[in-house]
Amino acid sequence: MKIIEPFFHIQDELDSASVAVRLEACGRVCYKSEDKITEDSAIPFVSKIAAHGHNSVLEMAVLTFRVTCDPRQTEDLLDCQPKFLVIDKLPDGMLLTGSMRALKELYLQHPKNQLVNDLLLVLVGIVPYIFEKIIDRHKILARDSSIVITKMGLLEIDQLPVELRLRHRFVGVKFIVNRAVTHELVRHRPCSFLQESQRYCRYSEDKFDNQVTFIKPMFFKEESEEFQVWKKAMEQAEATYFKLLETVTPQAARTVLPNSCKTEIIVFCNLIEWQHIFALRTSSAAEPSMREIMIPLQKEMQKKYMIC
Ligand SMILES: Cc1cc2nc3c(=O)[nH]c(=O)nc-3n(C[C@H](O)[C@H](O)[C@H](O)COP(=O)(O)OP(=O)(O)OC[C@H]3O[C@@H](n4cnc5c(N)ncnc54)[C@H](O)[C@@H]3O)c2cc1C
Repeated sequence: MKIIEPFFHIQDELDSASVAVRLEACGRVCYKSEDKITEDSAIPFVSKIAAHGHNSVLEMAVLTFRVTCDPRQTEDLLDCQPKFLVIDKLPDGMLLTGSMRALKELYLQHPKNQLVNDLLLVLVGIVPYIFEKIIDRHKILARDSSIVITKMGLLEIDQLPVELRLRHRFVGVKFIVNRAVTHELVRHRPCSFLQESQRYCRYSEDKFDNQVTFIKPMFFKEESEEFQVWKKAMEQAEATYFKLLETVTPQAARTVLPNSCKTEIIVFCNLIEWQHIFALRTSSAAEPSMREIMIPLQKEMQKKYMIC
């Protein structure tokens, strides 16, 4: 067995990547198959994932659009009560941010809305491998020339007035933590998540160094008796897991794995939700293992994104 300290990684290197590259990098965390990433593996991976209904992968990339339109069209869109989108009215239209999933489902639920129709036509040009199939299967309306939809770049989003930037700027963080911490993280409902799957990962394989990895609990000093008790329990859990793997699948064997098991989770949300998470998860009332990771992350995010 392996014992490691928890850590995090702000995925800002993916901010400048294409949608497909970003989705693949995040989606492969579930299977721990990052070794399969090649120069042209992204689009086939994303297409397969979308066909299988592993929809949360499509939540890991957002696009922001500046829409210039008649106020009536803004109201028509808001009347649809779009879900999982960030929309802010502007004097001449709106700012709209959505994940690939939210944008896809927006069209499927409201195909007759002119603005939604026109947005789909713009999306097909940017990410055809996600939106082309919809075009093939639906009766698409002609574009309305009075609606102007422009994709915004990251630099432009970062220069928005602060209240808009906090809502439209999304940041992904990969946490390498124990399963108790991820149980708490997934309670933050506005976020999107992707997590290493104990159903698909077989820790007896070479790529896991043929061992289960555990996160060192911050509660016990390494030389303490409690630490030795904990370590023995992990060794027993690992031995039982390997014994079960001789005859059953990882999803059955994982039932003996404890909270201390190392896992990877990507949390993706806008800056305003990160501020909310930090307020709750760095306070003295928060769980100590959560604070252990959130306090340094908050400091890093404050520096990078000028948030509180
Ligand atoms: C110290 C501490 C102890 C906790 N103890 C427990 C516990 O014992 N048991 C337990 O089950 N949970 C517990 N929790 C989890 C807690 O109740 C929340 O579920 C979790 O912190 C997510 O935060 P949130 O609900 O404020 O916001 P998020 O889910 O992050 O959502 C952000 C904001 O969106 C809005 N929002 C999202 N969804 C809804 C909704 N459905 N309705 C209305 N508004 C919504 C709210 O304004 C919310 O503040 C604990 C959390 C902390 C920090």
